[in-house]
Amino acid sequence: MNNKELMQRDLSVLWHPCTQMKDHESLPVTPIKRGEGVWLEDFDGNRYIDAISSWWVNLFGHCNPRINDRIKQQLDTLEHVILAGFTHQPIIELSERLIDITPDGLSHCFYADNGSSAIEVALKMSYHYWRNTGKPQKTKFITLSNSYHGETLGALAAGDVPLYKETYKPLLMDVITAPSPDCFYREPGESCRDYSARQFEHMRALLERHSDEVCAVFIEPLVQCAGTMRMHDPVYLKLLREACDEYGVHLIADEIAVGFGRTGTLFACEQADISPDFMCLSKGLTGGYLPVSVTLTHERIYQAFYDEYDKLSAFLHSHSYNGNPLGCAAALATLDIFEQDDVIEQNRRLATVMQQATEHLKDHPHVGEVRQTGMILAVEMVKDKAARITYPWQERRGLHVYQHALKNEALLRPLGNVSYLMPPYVITPEQIEHLARVMTEGIDLATRD
Ligand SMILES: *Cc1c(COP(=O)(O)O)cnc(C)c1O
Repeated sequence: MNNKELMQRDLSVLWHPCTQMKDHESLPVTPIKRGEGVWLEDFDGNRYIDAISSWWVNLFGHCNPRINDRIKQQLDTLEHVILAGFTHQPIIELSERLIDITPDGLSHCFYADNGSSAIEVALKMSYHYWRNTGKPQKTKFITLSNSYHGETLGALAAGDVPLYKETYKPLLMDVITAPSPDCFYREPGESCRDYSARQFEHMRALLERHSDEVCAVFIEPLVQCAGTMRMHDPVYLKLLREACDEYGVHLIADEIAVGFGRTGTLFACEQADISPDFMCLSKGLTGGYLPVSVTLTHERIYQAFYDEYDKLSAFLHSHSYNGNPLGCAAALATLDIFEQDDVIEQNRRLATVMQQATEHLKDHPHVGEVRQTGMILAVEMVKDKAARITYPWQERRGLHVYQHALKNEALLRPLGNVSYLMPPYVITPEQIEHLARVMTEGIDLATRD
């Protein structure tokens, strides 16, 4: 078997995610044979460093022996069981440990099997809480411009990336959109902190005007990942927490992408020292192995659903694979690695290497910004550096970087004009330097004319 043969078979039967399938008339689909650590290997023997952690899920490398072992043990014990009326050891232990490591006050775990579903759970639970507590007029949500919360209809409505959302608008609930604290738009000389704090005034005004009808505010703490890795200062989270308390509105922290050490702390909310009313986790939760997601919430919210059956106040939401034991085993092994290794400290060192290896790109004539939060480093290509005018999306500059990288042992899937590194935490400084070299060459090629 080789790449070409598998690609042909693939294209005759598959429909790939987030893809214009016609692109594959000229762009290959790469069939991967095996993975090990940061490496992926295809059927022609080419290797690629997985610089984007296979869509931000992988933390400790592919086929990590510690995670593999735990899943294998679980597989011979219990593969799955219904979670209504039944339970199992891995999910109890996982829930105890998640409550232990997440911000104070989060006390109950509700499971689903992907990030979008965790968002749907938070959305429905927040609305339902207000209904159960005598405020059925609260039916709206506030979200940030350029945010992303997933692709199912509720999650899509909560997000704001036009590329994913525009087509389906007639199908989506209305939301109130506040301008993002995204520091890309700060004035020359203005600090990110000042800009984020200034942007908060729009949010405050919306909360003041709409708090009677608003259930919750959605936010991706510190980094809007799908929105091309745009970043803001923790001060925004702090102000948001205070204002949500003041106006009686829930705060839903979507840490699906930024949780588990991505931003320099175990959870991004820690950097503002806040606890959200709901926290959604997925992606890195299982080390990138299996689809599990969880929505954590507070005792106060849990209690608003706790009553006699005939009061009909229960949260009746469910999914077939709620709390799958194999996924929980992968998550437990992942948490063991965080506990046993000095991951957060090691990540600080790797983040410094990422910063140093890409520092020169700041002076590139077609780089508008090099931005970083912990283990996420993004380089934004612009047409006009001084005026910060971006390239038209139709030119697909990022794709050139991607194609160059594929020929040079790197998987650097872009987000529009943004090329970024979001590697597994087991990457070495030398591998980071290789990625930075390939990215620089790719950007040179992509911005030549
Ligand atoms: C990926 C992502 C989601 C959706 O998760 P899926 O598992 O892809 O449904 C939601 N929010 C954020 C911030 C994400 O990055």
